[in-house]
Amino acid sequence: MSTTPRVVVIGAGILGASTAAHLVRLGARVDLVTEGAVASGASGRSLSWLNSAGARTDDYHRLRTVGIDRWRTFAHVGLDDRVRFDGGLTWAAPGESHRERHEHELSIGYDSVWLERAEVAARVPGVDVSAVAEEGAVLNPGEGWVDLPLVVETLLAEVVAAGGSVHEGVGRCLPVLSGGRTTGVRAASGAEFPADTVVLAGGPWVPRDLAELGVAVPEQSPVALLVRTAPVDSGLRAVLNTPRVAVRPAPGGTLVLDAGWSEREVEVRGDGDYVVHDSTVAGLIAEASRVLVGNPSLTVASTGVGPKPIPGDGEPVVGPVADVPGLHVLFTHSGATLGLVLGEFTAREVVTGAENPLLSSFRPSRFTAVAR
Ligand SMILES: Cc1cc2nc3c(=O)[nH]c(=O)nc-3n(C[C@H](O)[C@H](O)[C@H](O)COP(=O)(O)OP(=O)(O)OC[C@H]3O[C@@H](n4cnc5c(N)ncnc54)[C@H](O)[C@@H]3O)c2cc1C
Repeated sequence: MSTTPRVVVIGAGILGASTAAHLVRLGARVDLVTEGAVASGASGRSLSWLNSAGARTDDYHRLRTVGIDRWRTFAHVGLDDRVRFDGGLTWAAPGESHRERHEHELSIGYDSVWLERAEVAARVPGVDVSAVAEEGAVLNPGEGWVDLPLVVETLLAEVVAAGGSVHEGVGRCLPVLSGGRTTGVRAASGAEFPADTVVLAGGPWVPRDLAELGVAVPEQSPVALLVRTAPVDSGLRAVLNTPRVAVRPAPGGTLVLDAGWSEREVEVRGDGDYVVHDSTVAGLIAEASRVLVGNPSLTVASTGVGPKPIPGDGEPVVGPVADVPGLHVLFTHSGATLGLVLGEFTAREVVTGAENPLLSSFRPSRFTAVAR
């Protein structure tokens, strides 16, 4: 590698944009290439709740808390509405309890407060208390949300200002191999981009592209639906994760909504098209209204549908691909929470070659080693 590494990043979602911005900060020459428009993948239709709530492996929890820390810094630096830390509120479905979850969070030092139903209104404005579970709710005051498209735009502006290039709409891109290593990227448009290192950050499409190179990374990416409302004066500031709907505030007074049940109602046609039923969108809107104080009437501004990246074992897949020298990969669930930190760590690994111990559990080789 020359002293000024030349890196091509594939994918203009939050992970590609973050990696590219951190790369230019470290002095790399960067071309970012992406199939369609910037932030047109999962990052453009994400709930983007910044959290490490619930139970998961210690390594993954640690990485997520570091991820939240980076957003907190970004929020202080940015001083605007793209990233907010106004907490998260969750309550259990009928017949279930969140007591154990709360105890677990306390045991690992995750900021978690049990609220009796009657305490919710004073602590979390905008919530219809009658919708809250009888046992009460868990407030995680340190959680927040991010508007990914706005942050992607900011990060890519930084790339360009530092002399990097962003190539939108070049079609599908694949790494080019020569002499047993990656030497660049070829786009469907015919354009070629030479590189010392290629970073594949194609969101849910990463397993598809790796498979073309003979590398297996299992996935369980579902098709997900996100609904954005027109601006509404809801008074809500926290992210709500309720049994039937997740609601988070967004810039301009809008709300974004998703749910597991609405995801499962999306039809995937044989030709790969998605069909979102009006009844699903109406149902999501009704569920959101039900948990908001005054049960406001909500209007749909837009819907976004497509795959939500989730690796086969649920944990991030990050780092060099052992069988393809010169290729790094980024494929993760919770890519909003991890967006800044994984870009930072990946850029440092690419430029210095030094392995980050916080990533050691998340290497792609955990799957290929098993396959062999
Ligand atoms: C409904 C929903 C809710 C979510 N909720 C949360 C949440 O609450 N908290 C959280 O932390 N995360 C959440 N996520 C996950 C998070 O949004 C994603 O993990 C993250 O946005 C992924 O970013 P990415 O950069 O990896 O991929 P993407 O944003 O999908 O970007 C990849 C880009 O690369 C392009 N591309 C792909 N392959 C190629 C190729 N071969 N050549 C050229 N271009 C290519 C695609 O067109 C796309 O534009 C949610 C996601 C969804 C969909």
